[in-house]
Amino acid sequence: MEKPALYGGIPVREKPLSYGKQYIDEDDIRAVTEVLRGDFLTGGPYVAELERKLCKITGAKYAVAVSNGTAALHLAALAAGFGPGDEVIVSSITFAASSNCVLYCGATPVFADIRPDTCNIDPGQIEKLITPATKGVIAVDFTGQAVEQDEIRRICEEHNLVFIEDAAHAIGTKYKGRPVGSMADMTTFSFHPVKTVTSGEGGAITTNDEKLYRKLMRLRTHGITRNQSEMVHPTDAGWYNEQVELGFNYRITDIQAALLTSQLDKLDVFSARRAQIVKRYDRAFSEMPELVVQREIPESETTRHLYILRLNLEKLTCDRREFFDALHAENIYAQVHYLPVYWHSYYEKLGYEKGLCPCAEKFYGEVMSIPLFYAMTDNDAEDVICAVKKLIAYYRR
Ligand SMILES: *Cc1c(COP(=O)(O)O)cnc(C)c1O
Repeated sequence: MEKPALYGGIPVREKPLSYGKQYIDEDDIRAVTEVLRGDFLTGGPYVAELERKLCKITGAKYAVAVSNGTAALHLAALAAGFGPGDEVIVSSITFAASSNCVLYCGATPVFADIRPDTCNIDPGQIEKLITPATKGVIAVDFTGQAVEQDEIRRICEEHNLVFIEDAAHAIGTKYKGRPVGSMADMTTFSFHPVKTVTSGEGGAITTNDEKLYRKLMRLRTHGITRNQSEMVHPTDAGWYNEQVELGFNYRITDIQAALLTSQLDKLDVFSARRAQIVKRYDRAFSEMPELVVQREIPESETTRHLYILRLNLEKLTCDRREFFDALHAENIYAQVHYLPVYWHSYYEKLGYEKGLCPCAEKFYGEVMSIPLFYAMTDNDAEDVICAVKKLIAYYRR
């Protein structure tokens, strides 16, 4: 049997392969250069063009582009009206920003467990956590797979809750043929370089509700409006604008907007390539009882952001830590998505205790995200499969 590189064997790859990486082509560079040669670096026409494109792709009536995905979540939580005394039910397996936005508003995140097969928030758990103080649900399309929209929608309507979908992983995904971004009350996106399309830093909120849209637009720019119908002291004086509430500067620049607009032209191509790699991984790993392949609900037509390698620890002599380190020694640089949010020491200090979400906690101990990005080659994917097979053979019980 081949010796893992961790114990002095020869690594499967010479060059490291990371779990994610952006892809920038000459069209992207041209789009950015055009802005730099023009009149507006921010506050110009490229932001509106980006928002039109986001509406087209998501099927939403309105899109508000902002400086990053966390700002998108913050504004969505504010527009939802979350405040002190309110509870908001949040996925437990997600990036901290999904629940930090609830804290920003002075409200309380309540963590819901995941479904063990899809790894998305479990609608049955949401229902169990509802109290008279519950005001909303923030559900994350983890790895890009759509959450169970119909069930969550029904629960939210029944209990009068605002449904925010954190689709940071899921631009391009469809649920029952409808694009993510057109279904929840508000859907937020992130365009950080590890995500499927990027603007360097960037984010957006989509909605079909005009009132929410107007509020999001104001909050993006300090709470200031130029729209007379929104003013307390309306006037048609050319210079006049009025701050009617407390907002922020969460604007995206035209430089970023142009880059993202160009990236979005490639979304279908990016998505198709990711699907090919996922298929290759699924085929290789579904034959191995030492691994658990993530289940996809048939309703989700997924643009996959992450590929989760999940260990069946009962059949292995190692734990996740050792497998992760051994994979790293083979020059496959995985990452772990995610620590259950309430395990972060900050949340611990707020009083959240271990044991809240057993499925999420078990999941965390078994997983790592392996390389999945547009520019990786078939050979890269084969290296990953080869390294995983080598380690499974070594650690098999
Ligand atoms: C990336 C990400 C965010 C935050 O986006 P930023 O653009 O980095 O602020 C929020 N939620 C999830 C699930 C993410 O993956």
